[in-house]
Amino acid sequence: MDVHTPKQRSFNMSRIRGKDTSPEMKVRHLLHSLGYRYRLHVRDLPGCPDIVMPKHRVLIFVHGCFWHMHKCRFGRVVPKTNTEFWQTKRSGNTERDRRNARQLRKVGWTVLTVWECETRNQEKLKSRLESRLP
Ligand SMILES: [Zn+2]
Repeated sequence: MDVHTPKQRSFNMSRIRGKDTSPEMKVRHLLHSLGYRYRLHVRDLPGCPDIVMPKHRVLIFVHGCFWHMHKCRFGRVVPKTNTEFWQTKRSGNTERDRRNARQLRKVGWTVLTVWECETRNQEKLKSRLESRLP
């Protein structure tokens, strides 16, 4: 038995391809259309944030729901095979996320997290970003 529907599987797999995966691209396109300027994957900041807006002191992590254990239905999936391996890996990610965000806030950054599932609805994502950005 596999806990994934084919749809969920492709949703999860979409994060494995690396940096410029589509959820991040959606966020970037939206920010661009809203007139924001940003830097990408800034390695000298904790966690190498996906999107950094130095002018506003805001940075954005675009997180895959599965990998970073979002509280949505995609993040709550527990793999039936190699369960322990995945759970250790995922809770390690989550812990690291928290630590990085704390460090970044301490030095004055506003840290926003956009979840992969939130990038599926363009309109919702737009209003969410608009409400949280300066
Ligand atoms: Zn989610």
